[in-house]
This record gives sequence, structure tokens and C-alpha cells, in this order.
Amino acid sequence: MAYQTINPYTNEVLATFPDATKEEVDLAIAEAHEAFLSWRRSSFSIRTAVLAKAAQLLRVDRRRYAELLTLEMGKVIAEAEAEVDLSADIFQYYADRGESLLEPEKVPVAYASEGEVEIVNEPLGVLLTVEPWNFPYYQVVRVAAPQLLAGNTILLKHASNVPQCAAMFDDLFARSGLPAGGFKNLYLPHALTEYVINDPRIRGVALTGSEEAGAIIAAYAAKAVKKSTLELGGADPFVVLDDADIDKTVDWAVFGRHWNAGQVCVSAKRMIVVDEVFDEFVGKYREGVAALKAGDPRDPQTSLAPLSSQGAADALSAQVRQAVAGGAKAETLGEPVPSNGAFFQPTILTEMEPTNPAYYEEFFGPVSMIIRVKDEAEAIAVANDSPFGLGGSVFTNDTKRGERVAREIDTGMVYVNHPTMVKADIPFGGVKHSGYGHELTNLGIQEFINKKVIDVVDINAAF
Ligand code: NAP
Repeated sequence: MAYQTINPYTNEVLATFPDATKEEVDLAIAEAHEAFLSWRRSSFSIRTAVLAKAAQLLRVDRRRYAELLTLEMGKVIAEAEAEVDLSADIFQYYADRGESLLEPEKVPVAYASEGEVEIVNEPLGVLLTVEPWNFPYYQVVRVAAPQLLAGNTILLKHASNVPQCAAMFDDLFARSGLPAGGFKNLYLPHALTEYVINDPRIRGVALTGSEEAGAIIAAYAAKAVKKSTLELGGADPFVVLDDADIDKTVDWAVFGRHWNAGQVCVSAKRMIVVDEVFDEFVGKYREGVAALKAGDPRDPQTSLAPLSSQGAADALSAQVRQAVAGGAKAETLGEPVPSNGAFFQPTILTEMEPTNPAYYEEFFGPVSMIIRVKDEAEAIAVANDSPFGLGGSVFTNDTKRGERVAREIDTGMVYVNHPTMVKADIPFGGVKHSGYGHELTNLGIQEFINKKVIDVVDINAAF
């Protein structure tokens, strides 16, 4: 697919960028490797200064960076600014913690072992990161900030519809003082992905994206015996129990399903509501969704953005038609969305049954599945009846009960009385078909580290 900037609010093609050639790819790998050989020996104070500078640059020019997000993938400007802030927070998180996240660890030895044993944390080398368009900055920073702090260097293959957001990082890191080759954006064609992964200087791959892409890239990595992390799709359950504060729960449900136009891996995609409060919840949810205002994403009054592309909107329409063919009832809500641009009319799907293949799918846009259950036990069973296991939430006035239910949900993250959050200082990761590995915090930085064991035995010790 060509790397192009297409404004999803107007569907206008604004710029096209040529794919990287094999020669450019070879050069980028060589430079990234060369940079690694010195970056791995740089002091933590040099590395944290680069990260702190990147945070500062993002904050100083927040509006300009946000406008590029809105231009290329259509998110409303306030959410774009929030993404810039979140990205800066992640840089700052790693700048502040620095070396403390990678301290060597003494290993107490008692079973007839000899010597002083410790684990030291060393970087692996050049990493390839493959990222999606839904959070064009945040997704890249989740990998780049910890891995640059660890001493690795990075090649980026970003989604083809956000080429200018991708190129922004080359400029940001150069201005932050990262040595040349430390980070490089490549307009990599799919056909060259395996070639890159096979290069012996590439030591790991981090992908965020769909299950299909994840399976392909992870298979390349596995064949080349390289570590990978996968942050894939989700169909987060949003469980509403009988004792929930319905007004507040509805506010969170409308937000949780519709921010970023519903294109979030941890959007609240399946509302699982117990019988007792079902009618009240659904009535108020309908009103909340109908009140969303679709329009120009640069207008601060707009609360429903276009989807990232016309292709995404067309694919979602086809998916809803399939769900209806499978037995679901689809109801559209609110004022008609603009006919020009990649808008999608908010839709709720009811009468969803496990016999309908759509019941197990991820809907990436403003489409809410609403499922009625008789009680808490059935809510947990339905929440877990999904191929995905990313996030989820439970709404109840009894936080102890919420925590107990959270423990029963088979996903990587569960929030009580809040849709799944994305924050700089909370780890992120899923199970099942949502992938493996973690990003952010001390967990994220450990993913591409050689936890090297060094055992120093006194030469005078008995043979
Ligand atoms: P996608 O098609 O899988 O694209 C993601 C990235 O993979 C893009 O850079 C894409 O490049 C690349 N890609 C796809 N197929 C490839 C191939 N055969 N070889 C090399 N690169 C390939 O994902 P999407 O549909 O744009 O993004 C939405 C998905 O991401 C959803 O499922 C969402 O839930 C998931 N997601 C997960 C998380 C998480 O943290 N778990 C966060 C955000 C999104 P091209 O653009 O060039 O195809």
C-alpha cells in the first residue's frame, strides 16, 4: 500500500511518499547497528537527557504536533492534544526513572552454587517496531522511550496512512540529541518486512496492530528465532452490574466506546448488562450516543470524529451488514453524520448470539454490541467468551465486588468503574488473541533486554 496522507474529513489525497528501496533499507539497518554499538555504551544521563528533551519538545509545540494527528487520521483536536501530552508523559516517565529500572540484581545462591551471581540488564541491538495509525505518536513512544533508555536502537515501520506522523519522529529525535541512526522511520513495503527481520543485526520485533498482521510478523520473527511482542486487537467487555450507578456508568460507556471514533484496541466494545438495569442502561445509552456531534475534527464542539479512512468506514459497514445477516439487530442513532468524509453513523447491535460469527469479532468504530445477561455469573461467562483478552471493566457501587469480578475476567487489564485506561505509568498488555508481552513501565522495558547472568567464582575456591 502506498504511504499517503489522506485527510479523512475530506477524503482528499494531500501527499504521497515512495516506498523505501532495498538499498535504503540496507543502509538504515547498517546505520542503526552502528549507532547501537556506541549508544549501548552511553551513560544513562545522556539517554535520559534525550528522552527529557523529546518530552519537552512535544509539550512546547503541542498544538502543531496535535494538528498533524488530526490531519492524517482524523481524531478530534482535543484528543490529539491529549495524545501529545500522553506521549510526553511516557518520555518523561522513563527520563525520570532512568537507570533505576535496569539495576543489576544479586541472585542469592544456596544450592551448592559457587561464586557471586548477579543478573545484569543489557540491550539486545536494533529493534523493528511496526505500529498502527490509531495513536500515531503514543504507539511509537510506548516502544521507543523504554527501548532507547535500555540502549537499543530502533527502525520504525508505521502505518501507511500516517507517513508524516512517522517522519515527525526522525526530526524529534534528531532535535533531542539522539545520535544519527538511533531511530529511523522507513516507508517499508510489506514485501521487505521479512527481509528486515531476517537480518542478523535485527534482534527483536514489537508490533501493535491487527491479529492478522501480528500473526504474519510474529511468524517471520519465530522463523528467524527472534523475540517478538504483540499488542493486538480487543473486544473489551464493559460489565454493568445491578448495583451500578447507571447515570455515571452510561457517561463512561458513551465515552469508552466513542473516543477516537471507537478506534481503540481497548474501546468498550461489548456492553454486558444485567437484566435488572438493562432497560434503564440501554435507554440512557441511546440518548448519550445520539447526543454525539459529528463534524470537523478541528472544531472543539465536535465529539465524534470521522474514521481514519474511507476504507475503514466501508469495511465497518460491511461488517455490520454481516452481523445483521447473522441474526443481529442494528439500530443507528443520532443526527445523520456528514456524507462527505469517512464518517460512520453510530450503531448499536442487539440480539447478538454466539451462533452469529460477528459475536466474536472486533468492531473498530462507533458500533456497540449490547448483550443482556441474567446475573453476575452470566456476565463473567459472556465477558470471557471471546477470542480476545485485552482490557475490560466492571461497574458496581461495591468496589470489593468489582475487584472480585475483575479477578474472574480473563484479560490482561480490568478496571473497576472506569473504561480501560491508557496512562504513562500503568502497564499495558493482553492475553489470548490480544497478543503477548507488555508495554510501558518497568514491564515494557524488560521485553528486549538480555538478562545476562554473571557468576564470579574465586579462583582459589576448591575444584
Ligand atoms: P494493521 O492492519 O494490522 O496495521 C498495523 C501495522 O501493521 C501497520 O503498520 C501495517 O502497515 C502493518 N502491517 C499489516 N500487515 C503487514 C504485513 N503483512 N507486513 C508488514 N506490515 C504489515 O492494523 P490496523 O487495522 O491498521 O489497526 C487496528 C488494529 O490494531 C486493531 O485490531 C486494534 O485493536 C489493534 N491495536 C492494538 C493495540 C494494543 O495495544 N493492543 C493498540 C492499538 C491498536 P500498513 O499500513 O502498511 O498495512
